[in-house]
Amino acid sequence: MISSVLSSTPVVVQEVPLQIDPAEVLRFQGYKKGQDRPTAEVVEIYDRALEEALRLMAPRAVYRAVRVTGQAPDWITLPDGVEFRVPEIGRLWGPLEGVGVVICTIGGRLEVRVGELFDAREFPLAVMLDSVGSAAAECLAEYINDLLCQVAIPEGLKVTNRISPGYAGWEVSDQRRLFRLCPGDPVGVALHSECFMTPLKSISFLVGIGPAARVDHYFTQCRRCWMKDCAYRRAPVDRTVHRG
Ligand code: SF4
Repeated sequence: MISSVLSSTPVVVQEVPLQIDPAEVLRFQGYKKGQDRPTAEVVEIYDRALEEALRLMAPRAVYRAVRVTGQAPDWITLPDGVEFRVPEIGRLWGPLEGVGVVICTIGGRLEVRVGELFDAREFPLAVMLDSVGSAAAECLAEYINDLLCQVAIPEGLKVTNRISPGYAGWEVSDQRRLFRLCPGDPVGVALHSECFMTPLKSISFLVGIGPAARVDHYFTQCRRCWMKDCAYRRAPVDRTVHRG
């Protein structure tokens, strides 16, 4: 368990009571939110894929915090000359005391099963199971993001929304620096030369931490967070990735 959001010693979070958001699965299936509705046949395939996914996945994450030594509108500087260039990060995240680095994964068994289903020419189930796995990895990243904010609040700190290398104008090659700060080995995640991770259903990300860090600059963070009676909540909860 994470005892402090500023812990610089890597901490492994496991046995996560993760709830997969069906809307996220449909998004990976190419459905447009609020427009497309799955047929009864698709729902049946989804139910089968979800059952398999719950049996196969092992959600876990490794986390550590790193002190911030400097900030500029598009830069965050960390000890030992490490710098991350992320456009507009100063405005989006506000002043920071530290950053949190997370490598999370649902493990590799699900993607092995997807391969077996393709070999057996069970294409609809294979594609759906792959989408369920991708959605599960996203939901896991959201879960850990929310968990970090929940740990931070009693410490008088706040945690921003997450960003990952390769998104929001952040160079994908910074994935290597991220892994140097927080290696994925404790949760079995490896980084390869082209900056992709195995198991494939893994996500690395960074969050900002500080007393005046900006939680939720686009309001999705609090909406899915399951913390009760949070004095800092900025929007009512409308869904959660926590299996309650
Ligand atoms: S409700 Fe919002 S501010 Fe409170 S812990 Fe959750 S994400 Fe953080």
